Amino acid sequence: MSDIRTVLESPVTGAGSPAQAGIGKPLSVVSLRKTYGDVVAVDEASMEIAAGEFVTFLGASGSGKTTTLMMIAGFAEPDSGTITVGDRDVTRLAPQKRNLGFVFQQYLLFPHMTVGENIAFPLQLRGVSKADTRRRVGETLEIVGLTGYGGRYPRELSGGQQQRVALCRALVYRPPVVLMDEPLGALDKKLRDQLQVEIKAIQRELGLTVIYVTHDQEEALVLSDRIAVMRDGLIDQFDTPRELFERPKTPFVADFLGAANFLPGQVEETADEHTLVRLEHGGVLRARPHAFARGAAVDAAIQPGRLRACTPDEGFCTGTVETVTYVGTLVRVGLRLAGLDKLLRIEAPAGWAPIAGERIGVKADAQDVNLFGTEGR
Ligand code: ADP
Ligand code: MG
Repeated sequence: MSDIRTVLESPVTGAGSPAQAGIGKPLSVVSLRKTYGDVVAVDEASMEIAAGEFVTFLGASGSGKTTTLMMIAGFAEPDSGTITVGDRDVTRLAPQKRNLGFVFQQYLLFPHMTVGENIAFPLQLRGVSKADTRRRVGETLEIVGLTGYGGRYPRELSGGQQQRVALCRALVYRPPVVLMDEPLGALDKKLRDQLQVEIKAIQRELGLTVIYVTHDQEEALVLSDRIAVMRDGLIDQFDTPRELFERPKTPFVADFLGAANFLPGQVEETADEHTLVRLEHGGVLRARPHAFARGAAVDAAIQPGRLRACTPDEGFCTGTVETVTYVGTLVRVGLRLAGLDKLLRIEAPAGWAPIAGERIGVKADAQDVNLFGTEGR
């Protein structure tokens, strides 16, 4: 397999016409699998990505995000499975023949070239005329707010500016698909927030298909049309941010995206409009309708922001306020429930000022309660 530097420096072949490049075509991955010895890095990953879509692989370190991206880019060879761009099978093609743009955490700018030369490089490889190159380099620098920096060397730029240039170099030849692996990982929070907005704006403006890798939930939610939540080489759920948050398909997704509270219990009644759960530590909770049989053992998952304080007799349970933490516009409250070994986490607008030791009830809308079967776990 080729390494990234070699590919960046080698001539482009077979990427001439937009049709060949697959512009406006969807990308699909079918049963992609990759092992390293005993380690299954990626296990049967499948997904369809629409043209113009911003898709993020989200998962903890080691969950297989980079490996999946590297197989799509052509830097890692899959054990099995196929990668298709439009109707073109690219699984065994060399990276430079796939015509994909990529941006990685390490900037990988050519240190001996100026900013302008760095950005011009992919255009020169493609035989774009000098005049066109100059114009497109200027336009691209303008998009990322670096007009006037073309004559500087990478070492004369800050980390954030270098990352912007790397972004320019990946975008300048308008590749149909741009792959980004934690491109903002090395930057501080403020700069990261700012560049997230820019990346999203550029992606929309140019209609790019982007596949983005991050371990940061918030970043994934801000950027993505859809997110593939990865765990141990498997895609747990591939969905819109809203669906992942509102309708997680696994406890892992509920926990990873919103840090849900899990309350064990047993299904007491199932009806068209709701499912009633008798909680282990006491109380009956109304959940949205689920297809569980009466008596089924379940965990009820509720996001901290979807729990509301109420008078003790109004709630599905009561508890004692143990911790109160103000986080700017929000207040986070840890509630001690009798019979539950961990604190129930509630998040509310900071206008609420509960006092430690106070006894309160909690309630939730049925539609905000997701149930997961725990039988056999
Ligand atoms: P992520 O990007 O989500 O942090 P990776 O795709 O880098 O995860 O890694 C997935 C798994 O594959 C990990 O267990 C990692 O140690 C292993 N792995 C990745 N690359 C290699 C490699 N070149 N050789 C051996 N194991 C690897
Ligand atoms: Mg990685």
